[in-house]
Amino acid sequence: MKVFENQEVWFVTGAQLLYGGDAVVQVDGHSQKMVDGMNSSGILPVKLVYKGTANSSAEVTAVMRAAQGDPKCIGVIAWMHTFSPAKMWIHGLQELRKPLLHFHTQFNKEIPWSAIDMDFMNLNQSAHGDREFGHILARMRKGHKTVVGHWEDPKVLGHIAVWERVAAAWADAQDCLILRFGDQMNNVAVTDGDKVEAEMRLGYHVDYMPFSEVMTYFDAVEDSEVDSLTARYFEEYDHSPELEDKGSVGYRKVWNSAKAELTLRAVLKAKGAKGFTTNFDDLGDVNVEETGRGFDQIPGLASQRLMAEGYGFGAEGDWKTAALYRTVWYMSQGLPGGCSFLEDYTLNFDGDRSSILQAHMLEVCPSIAASKPRLEVHDLGIGVRKTPTARLVFTSKEGMGLTATVVDMGGRFRLIAADVECIKPQPLPKLPVASALWIPQPDFETGAAAWIMAGGTHHSCFSYDLTPEYWEDYAEIADIEMLHINSGTTLSEFKKELKINEVYYLLNKALK
Ligand code: MN
Repeated sequence: MKVFENQEVWFVTGAQLLYGGDAVVQVDGHSQKMVDGMNSSGILPVKLVYKGTANSSAEVTAVMRAAQGDPKCIGVIAWMHTFSPAKMWIHGLQELRKPLLHFHTQFNKEIPWSAIDMDFMNLNQSAHGDREFGHILARMRKGHKTVVGHWEDPKVLGHIAVWERVAAAWADAQDCLILRFGDQMNNVAVTDGDKVEAEMRLGYHVDYMPFSEVMTYFDAVEDSEVDSLTARYFEEYDHSPELEDKGSVGYRKVWNSAKAELTLRAVLKAKGAKGFTTNFDDLGDVNVEETGRGFDQIPGLASQRLMAEGYGFGAEGDWKTAALYRTVWYMSQGLPGGCSFLEDYTLNFDGDRSSILQAHMLEVCPSIAASKPRLEVHDLGIGVRKTPTARLVFTSKEGMGLTATVVDMGGRFRLIAADVECIKPQPLPKLPVASALWIPQPDFETGAAAWIMAGGTHHSCFSYDLTPEYWEDYAEIADIEMLHINSGTTLSEFKKELKINEVYYLLNKALK
């Protein structure tokens, strides 16, 4: 899991000198053993770095300041081994703006009934100390995750692993540029929003890239590079042999797609961008067929492959979805299922099995494919160009997944996550695009209605690996609203939740 290699989570043990220096020395040894044990469990994707005991307000503040200032540190785990007066933590917690996890655990697993004495109590009193710490977090309204359980329990480590993945993706988003090739699709509301608020609240920065500048990268791509990428496509994907005929329209279209991919990757690398959006009405020179300068169609195949590589993607200028996809990809590195940008395409009413076809013109990530994608060239009659283009065609795996979106509610963001069941679609011989077919949970009528009432997008970021816990942790870190549509959702309760949340976020702003 390469993306996590240069990141660290700091583990800080809260203590005090009430029980004497010897007790703290022992606690320090316990803490080191715990951190070593958790690191060698193989469960945590980001390594823990033990930063010692913090025994006073000055020490807490110093270590929190250091955590805040160290670019490798993506978050802090705090554990109060014993009664650790939490007023010592006020200034330090005020300085820490990185994700925080409060770990309520204990070095000793079981009470040594026959041997327990007051010395043991002094070393194993987090039952007491973690409550004091929890109070100050509650009193300060300090966002955090609470994980409870013994540090050797794999289930407990699993909760920490989820938080680590979210914290790592959060750190990635704080240094993230999304490039927009073209603006939003005209008149679309849900893909629009406040980019200033997004940078303040969610971290990422959104810039516009004029096509005249994209063309300088386009012109710099060597034909030989395009030839070899085209050859790689033929090695990697199933395809009809006629596509390899260099005199055919099909070959030229695949070649053009490869040139678009090389152009976009060059731009993204040069600008240090982690995601991008496209717009089918803005593809460079309008006379591309004569001039050869510009994309002959939306760079669909390029978007599919760049998504699989980890670049955030949003169609039609949807920068919020591009940034969220990058986060989904980052969080799920090393997990087996795959993730993709998807769009609600068309409905299939079928009683209890009513479902929604998820697809796009072209841009679906091959990491969710049930089998090897097929490279095909077909007409595409939308947008500024009406010309055939290459794409990867496949259907998604069957199984449960979670899809998510962030919408701008005016003054604040709302995260909506929804459980969905991917089922096997019928063949789509006249719609040669990648697709998924899913049943929203708890059922089509309720799931779709809840998503629509919440103002959810037609674009979303889907994953087979993420669970609601990821989005809960993300929303806690970002301090934004989270709605989860699942098997227990009823519309009457969901409507109440929307109304109550509206009030909560108004008050939340006033309190802070
Ligand atoms: Mn779309």
